[in-house]
Amino acid sequence: MQDDGLYAALVRRGMTRRSFLQFSAAMAAALALPAAYAPRIAAAVEASKRLPVVWIRGQACGGDTEALLRSASPDTVALFLDVLDIRYHDAFLGVSGGDAQLALTSAMDLFPNGYLAVVEGSVPDRASGGYCLLGGRPAADVVRDVAAGAVATIAVGSCACDGGAPAAGDNSTQARGVKGLVGGTPYMALPGCPVNPVNLASVLVHYITFNQLPPADLAGRPLSAYGDLIHNQCERRPHFEFGEFALEWGDEGAQKGWCLYKLGCKGPETMGNCPTVRYGEQVSWNVHAGHGCVGCMTPSFWNEMGPAYRRLPSPVPFLPNLTVDMVGGALLGGIAGVTGVHAVGMGARFKRRRMIAARERASVAAGGPGSPSTEAGAQASTAPVVVPGPLPTPAPGVAEPAPAPIPEPLPAPSPGIAQPAPAAPPPPPTPEPTADAAAGITPGSDTEEG
Ligand code: SF4
Repeated sequence: MQDDGLYAALVRRGMTRRSFLQFSAAMAAALALPAAYAPRIAAAVEASKRLPVVWIRGQACGGDTEALLRSASPDTVALFLDVLDIRYHDAFLGVSGGDAQLALTSAMDLFPNGYLAVVEGSVPDRASGGYCLLGGRPAADVVRDVAAGAVATIAVGSCACDGGAPAAGDNSTQARGVKGLVGGTPYMALPGCPVNPVNLASVLVHYITFNQLPPADLAGRPLSAYGDLIHNQCERRPHFEFGEFALEWGDEGAQKGWCLYKLGCKGPETMGNCPTVRYGEQVSWNVHAGHGCVGCMTPSFWNEMGPAYRRLPSPVPFLPNLTVDMVGGALLGGIAGVTGVHAVGMGARFKRRRMIAARERASVAAGGPGSPSTEAGAQASTAPVVVPGPLPTPAPGVAEPAPAPIPEPLPAPSPGIAQPAPAAPPPPPTPEPTADAAAGITPGSDTEEG
């Protein structure tokens, strides 16, 4: 293909100016950029040369290549990817063996200033990488060499990002993603099973427009594509909110397009943009087609999100790190604790009542207070149980003190009868006259003057 630029290649493939501008606007939307960026994207793509690409495949099913190629009637995204200058891809080669290896090294040597490296599939470590050889070399060594000469490395599909299906279960080949092989080369991860071509195109357009990869999260995923939960964008979300769920495949809820959460949908815990960009030329995606999200954009999703039809624990509103099951477990534990304390208290109380009742029966048998034959005993049978202690026995020979007389109450005065005046207080006692006083001697009369 003649290399007179991306735009010229697109026009030769039948893209109209209107389609091109629509493509630029769609890319701005896919990159979560304001619509005002569409003209800038269009200008950058118009001025750009075709991007040289070296595409390496490790342990994978080839689904990411299929996603790139399968277009019944190519849309603008497919056309854009179609006009990339793919210098090496083993599925496109007309040669094999040594010639294939020569094609790879030639592509790498042809662009000393760099090319774009795209890696599909995982690389195995077991048996010195012998489970996946490319041209007789371990895939990990080839990826390391290709990434060293690249301006950026893009891992497409979940296998290249974190090992994917080959790393599931006991990971018999010790498969892993390629991030640890790229050294200091800029790296971007586009997980998914398979990768969405729209996300790959948007990353390339961002690189062409801004000469750098888009902002990414800690896993290297572009925030524009993996910055929100699938659940938040899903067209079935209103049914989730209203508690309308499909309970079995093919039941009334499934036929009405209700939420697939109870059939194992992993949308509430998966970051991705499938509901907005969709697959198959933006026609549909799995939930739209009637199957729950399997969480394929989540790291290690085969192990972490499976089984595919197991229901996720319900999230707690406004507390995304908690689930209803966690809160329910904590509440159950609290209730069990309170019930246990209450049971211990009731047991102690019951034991004390039994002791009091035994003491009461013993007292009744002895004819003491509390006997039903006495008034006190009759009261004791209905009143709260109060058992008096045994009466003290008087010592022999000691007379019992007579009970204190109870004073008679004063008679109430008759109405209309004047009350007698209270008795006047008695006068103070007159002191007895002393002998001096009787002799006419007053105090102080025995002084010198006297
Ligand atoms: S189908 Fe899945 S992603 Fe959609 S609303 Fe239900 S749980 Fe969320």
